[in-house]
Amino acid sequence: MPRLLTILGARPQFIKAAALTRAIAANPEMGWTQDILHTGQHYDESLSKVFFDTLNLPEPRWQFSLNHSNRPERMEEMRNGIRECVQESKPDAILVYGDTDSTLAGAQVAKEEGVILIHVEAGLRSFDLEMPEEINRIETDKISDILFAPTISAVKNLEKEGIYGAFLTGDIMHDNAVHFSSNSKNINQILLTMHRPSNVDEPSRAISWVKEIGSWANSKDLNIIFPIHPRTQKSLEMGIGTNWKEKIANWGVEAVNPVGYVELLGLINESQLVVTDSGGIQKESYSCATPSVVIRHNTEWEELVELGCTVLCPEPNDFKPLADAQINVDVDTSTELYGDGNAALSILQIINNKLNNA
Ligand code: UDP
Repeated sequence: MPRLLTILGARPQFIKAAALTRAIAANPEMGWTQDILHTGQHYDESLSKVFFDTLNLPEPRWQFSLNHSNRPERMEEMRNGIRECVQESKPDAILVYGDTDSTLAGAQVAKEEGVILIHVEAGLRSFDLEMPEEINRIETDKISDILFAPTISAVKNLEKEGIYGAFLTGDIMHDNAVHFSSNSKNINQILLTMHRPSNVDEPSRAISWVKEIGSWANSKDLNIIFPIHPRTQKSLEMGIGTNWKEKIANWGVEAVNPVGYVELLGLINESQLVVTDSGGIQKESYSCATPSVVIRHNTEWEELVELGCTVLCPEPNDFKPLADAQINVDVDTSTELYGDGNAALSILQIINNKLNNA
């Protein structure tokens, strides 16, 4: 029986893995089995365990608790752990998702150990080398044997770097949004999420975003719900003090703990606008036909901006006029930017054909 070793470490990767796990279970005739290795990059229960439970992911066969927080040491620690698991289990292929440190650590070990390396979500580029994710993506793509690109622009990015033969499959996260989405009515609500270091590590910047977005929503009589990432909470605590939650409530922003995936999709569905710096949530907003303001200078998902369902907002001062216009945008999902919800099945079929004919 062919065996896949899937390496996961962070919240968006647990979600991505759910779609392929469903496809493996629905196609037993292909005979694939999967071992999951959780590097422990996200260990907070609200960012990790809850996803394994609600998305029906199998228990990881290996789960690390990392001792190092500084990046080079943590990468080394992950690689050492992954290497041992690969040597012990001898998988037929190693699969990594996206662009986190766990992605690159897994990719590097696959290469060293001579195991076929599969990269799902290949070819995305923000063209911003200040983002650690950008380095992780470029390095992983360079050494992957089988690449799955979610969009045509991702395929073109790879070709510009001299990497040919990627498969265009649509986006595996869109599969999940289609699978779990419900039809809820729009209410007077805005969903806000932010966690990128460039927005939150400096407390004064995090505070400016929250104030600006809160004051705009108040002027429109809209409530803001803000599932807060632990990193963002830490920064607001530093900048405002332990009563940060009441303070930002006075600015019109209701902070709640991070929510599970299905609940998050529900919030996107019922909101009139999504304000986010998350890669996943900007796509999920499109999948749920909700317009979004992406509080970043750039995006890897440029087709969302071209279609008009997303607008980029680089600075807090730019927010109000952009949000005024964006809240009235009708999102046309018939464009199928990210496929028809069956990306995971295409990916599995291609892996199966390639490995059986290798
Ligand atoms: N997410 C969630 N609950 C939350 C916030 C996010 O389930 O409270 C999900 C969201 O639906 C998306 C994924 O987590 O699919 C995005 O993860 P994150 O924003 O951490 O990372 P990014 O997409 O920016 O890499």
